[in-house]
Amino acid sequence: MTQTFILGGGVTGLAAGLTSGLPVLEAAAAPGGICSSYYVRPHSPERLAQAPDDEEAYRFEIGGGHWIFGGDATILHFINQLTPVRRYARQSSVYFRQSDLYVPYPIQNFLRCLGAETAAQVLAEMSQPKLAVNTLKDWLASCFGATLCELFFYPFNQLYTAGLYEKIAPQDAYKSPVNFSLAIQGALNQTPAVGYNTTFVYPAAGLNELAQRMAERCDIRYDRRITQIDADSRMIQFAKGDRTRYDKLLATLPLNCLLEMTGLTVAAAPDPYTSVLVLNIGAVRGARCPDDHWLYNPDAQSGFHRVGFYSNVDRSFLPKAAQQTGDRVSLYVERAYVGGTKPTEAEISAYAQAVVQELQDWQFIEAAEVIDPTWIDVAYTWSLPNSQWRSQAISALEAQDIYPIGRYGRWHFQGIADSIRDGFYAGAGLKA
Ligand SMILES: Cc1cc2nc3c(=O)[nH]c(=O)nc-3n(C[C@H](O)[C@H](O)[C@H](O)COP(=O)(O)OP(=O)(O)OC[C@H]3O[C@@H](n4cnc5c(N)ncnc54)[C@H](O)[C@@H]3O)c2cc1C
Repeated sequence: MTQTFILGGGVTGLAAGLTSGLPVLEAAAAPGGICSSYYVRPHSPERLAQAPDDEEAYRFEIGGGHWIFGGDATILHFINQLTPVRRYARQSSVYFRQSDLYVPYPIQNFLRCLGAETAAQVLAEMSQPKLAVNTLKDWLASCFGATLCELFFYPFNQLYTAGLYEKIAPQDAYKSPVNFSLAIQGALNQTPAVGYNTTFVYPAAGLNELAQRMAERCDIRYDRRITQIDADSRMIQFAKGDRTRYDKLLATLPLNCLLEMTGLTVAAAPDPYTSVLVLNIGAVRGARCPDDHWLYNPDAQSGFHRVGFYSNVDRSFLPKAAQQTGDRVSLYVERAYVGGTKPTEAEISAYAQAVVQELQDWQFIEAAEVIDPTWIDVAYTWSLPNSQWRSQAISALEAQDIYPIGRYGRWHFQGIADSIRDGFYAGAGLKA
């Protein structure tokens, strides 16, 4: 009998499984994909899927801080029904280590923090006629001018895109909102919070709960890693050696992996992506640890671009005793790499030591009690200017009844709530 399957049991695949009732094939032994929390006791190397009974463990996320921003009201309602959430008001800054200066996000609306002279220079440059734009670097120069770019946007994007910002097309402009009136206001006075994540929600019981509650409502099959898809004979090959026939596939795996698995080719050259090494750290809280939820870092010596503080969002990320004392911190550090250039174990270990040393030098932490890395191979997807690769790849797959969906399947930036929404739509569309 032929069958339609959903590939991948992250939040997109789970949402599709929920609305369609179709089987979800998942490589791992648990649901959630990148949206998974785990727990580690102080001084233990072991990851626990659930909080231990005594609750004396740090909670971390596989993919670093996963705060649920934006989202349709109905999707947020769905999430809250499955696992109640708390809402938080974003607190984030750019941290210039060299001058030990914190500037609230977005920096262009807080120019007064840079001093009157720099603020005046940036405003003069921002008011200039817009330049022709081809790459992300061009777009930054056109919006923010040379001074702010040299100070922050270039060094930050060099790290965040692993150097790709000079050749990729501009994207996700809403992450750096441009509003000249607010920039002027912010050079002199307070400005209102802006951007896509001014507030966000997070499940009170941890992100794991969301994936688990969704999986309970799905026909999900674990340990089903797919290694190959034969689009002619419509056969899926599993890592365990068995095969199964399919009718249609709803696929949440990254677009480049889907092309590779099917052997389909397209004329356009592939678009680039970046991988992220997430380093989760549980530590004694340092004397100068900030209260921010996360910081954007343009000048960290060890090469990370963002450090976030889970426990500044919610103390439930700390071992139980420390939730009272507040003398510990649970944090994540993100560093980008050009897609697939994974460092060796020895390099990851040396990098982790360098990060801990740097955070200690900054007095954000004292002794580290847990240091735990995760490699995310396809983390951020990008496009080359005028590239046709994404649309050609999606069309080639759809022509074979393989429908790519979600952040990685469709090769576009989106958060958890939008991934769930896309999964709902696609699942409903394919319901038998
Ligand atoms: C560093 C980072 C930070 C982020 N921060 C946020 C945030 O703060 N807030 C937010 O809303 N969103 C955030 N996101 C985005 C969020 O992670 C995604 O929107 C969401 O996880 C996408 O879910 P998905 O199911 O599409 O993909 P995934 O979670 O990648 O799920 C894909 C699933 O497919 C499975 N799979 C892979 N290969 C195979 C195979 N061969 N066979 C079978 N199964 C396979 C995987 O095991 C996985 O379970 C962040 C993403 C990254 C990378």
